[in-house]
Amino acid sequence: MAAETRLQTVDRDGLEARLASVRSAITDAARAAGRSADELTLVVVTKYHPASLVRELAALGVTDVGENRHQEAQAKAAELADLDLTWHFVGQLQSKKARQARRYADVVQSLDRDSVVDAFAPTDAEPDPRVIDGFVQVNLTDDPGRGGVQPEDVEAMAERVLATGTVRLRGVMAVAPLDEEPRRAFARLRAISERVVSLAPGATDVSAGMSGDFAEAIAEGATHLRIGTAITGNRPVAP
Ligand SMILES: *Cc1c(COP(=O)(O)O)cnc(C)c1O
Repeated sequence: MAAETRLQTVDRDGLEARLASVRSAITDAARAAGRSADELTLVVVTKYHPASLVRELAALGVTDVGENRHQEAQAKAAELADLDLTWHFVGQLQSKKARQARRYADVVQSLDRDSVVDAFAPTDAEPDPRVIDGFVQVNLTDDPGRGGVQPEDVEAMAERVLATGTVRLRGVMAVAPLDEEPRRAFARLRAISERVVSLAPGATDVSAGMSGDFAEAIAEGATHLRIGTAITGNRPVAP
């Protein structure tokens, strides 16, 4: 019953209008940066929202969605298995959950610990696991407790991802610190990305930019934008 009530409360027109407005802001920011919006992948972050909202987004042409909690992501991906969506996992993972996330996640953007990376590698029990795409998450803050590896450790983590043989290294991902001009932080990420590309030439992707700072991320070369509230509206309280 609860799910049904929530289904009816998805505000389709509002969703469509916000999505159109974000898409047009992305096109403008790309143009201002001398780039084409075709180079950009919009990942709509749907965490805490019901599967019905994700279904509406898919009907509006969204192809990539992002989630940050394993159990919620797993349930939504199962419920929406009839849709041809690319599921991005953008939250902190534990190695135990990582093994399960591999079953539904197409892309894991938050690789930031050896144990999590290793969980995607083949094991005796699962010698031929599903291959996924991965991003090394970089911590751009001074707080070592935040998600992501320290900038000086990015190459080692990238090597570890490559060594799995079952994660295609796509590039780097980061969240801008709250207390810094986002563009400056994204410029650092761009330099880190260049270092990764020099050891893994195919790993050119840069996932950066959320609702409040995607234009700055586009200006600094982001290829993947992770946008939630600007499209979905406010998130429900964490269930
Ligand atoms: C929630 C989340 C986003 C989206 O944030 P908004 O501010 O709602 O756009 C992007 N990236 C990560 C890692 C997130 O957890």
